[in-house]
Amino acid sequence: MKIFKFGGASINSIERIQHVARIIQRYKGEKLLIVFSAMGKVTNELEKVATAFYSGNQAEALALFYQIKETHLELALQLTKQPINELSNIFTEVEWLLHDKPVRDYDYYYDQIVCSGELLSTAIISEYLNTANCKNQWLDVRDILRTDDNFREANIDWDFTHQKVTEIISPLFENTDIIITQGFIGATDENESTTLGREGSDYSAAIFANMLNAESQTIWKDVEGVMNADPKLFPAAQIIDALSYLEVIEMAYYGAQVIHPKTIKPLQNKAIPLLVKCFLHPDLPGTIISNQPTHQLPPIIVIKEKQVLMQVSSRDFSFVEDDLVAKLHTLLLENKIRPNLSQNGAISLLCCMDDQPEKIEKLALAASELFDVQVEKDCSLLTIRHYNEAIIQQLTEGREQLLSQKTKQTIQVLLKALSINGDD
Ligand code: ASP
Ligand code: MG
Repeated sequence: MKIFKFGGASINSIERIQHVARIIQRYKGEKLLIVFSAMGKVTNELEKVATAFYSGNQAEALALFYQIKETHLELALQLTKQPINELSNIFTEVEWLLHDKPVRDYDYYYDQIVCSGELLSTAIISEYLNTANCKNQWLDVRDILRTDDNFREANIDWDFTHQKVTEIISPLFENTDIIITQGFIGATDENESTTLGREGSDYSAAIFANMLNAESQTIWKDVEGVMNADPKLFPAAQIIDALSYLEVIEMAYYGAQVIHPKTIKPLQNKAIPLLVKCFLHPDLPGTIISNQPTHQLPPIIVIKEKQVLMQVSSRDFSFVEDDLVAKLHTLLLENKIRPNLSQNGAISLLCCMDDQPEKIEKLALAASELFDVQVEKDCSLLTIRHYNEAIIQQLTEGREQLLSQKTKQTIQVLLKALSINGDD
């Protein structure tokens, strides 16, 4: 059995949905569990509905949702030429809620509203595939994927979910080759919808791959595979044929937006290879991510913009004592800030973080009760894995370097302002 995941960009138009159907048809005779995201940017649109609803703008929320509804109905009609019963249930679920007043917290409502994107896309695509002679079974993943009630970042109940996978999915495959379901969403034991964090569909697919002992998971993207740099910033970026799980975890840690970071572990635990393939060119091999160690990788370049550098120094030139270091770490934890790079000196400590203005201000204020604090904004954090001197030179030339750290594999340099220009 194979697990496929199609993201929003692969299903953002009638033509693309028809194209996805042709990709699926190439795998005739194989067992496929296919996880879809919401279409195009629908999740962003639904987030606006949630925001409007929660800030008391009920009319606006309903109007925004109405637009989403119309777009889906129109698309469904064009694709299948007949009404799809399931859609009205999904619309009603959200509309019913939007007619209420918010009494619980935002994250709860966010999940109840935003989850409809994946339900709608899969209901439409499943029906379309059935009419296009690609018989499949649609599943509401909320009957299977059980989570806690940590809304917007829900945690999987592995035991319960595994039991449901065995009870529901395995028997279904005796009668169908293709199961279509939603990524990104789940439900609590009280049947409240939950989401797993933005871009979480990759992770959903990996959960199924793990529990069904799939032979592979394929993520179908609009790029030809995983690249060693962002091609928008570095036109010379190249596709990497093969990567180890470990390398991908490292890349995600340093901020590369390759694959949802939680995706790797469920696959690694069962040594299931992850293929990243291009839906526009399905014949291309793409990238394979597996437990095979990789050799001779090109330099992998990750840039994180909008960084701040905070320097805390002892007031009286005394050494930064251990307990003060500990206090700063406590403050970071309390404010839920994870430093991206830090360095201890004799009388000062440097810490580079994502610029989340409110959090940083709170942190700086609290820290200033103990230390002298200086904050420098507009920095970019450059990380190069498998670096060589030439590439470091090329990417840092002429830039003010505020902080740098090097291990055998990885160099990180915090640069002042401006993104790096690497056209060759
Ligand atoms: N639709 C969700 C999002 O846009 C989940 C996903 O695409 O993976 O974040
Ligand atoms: Mg997406």
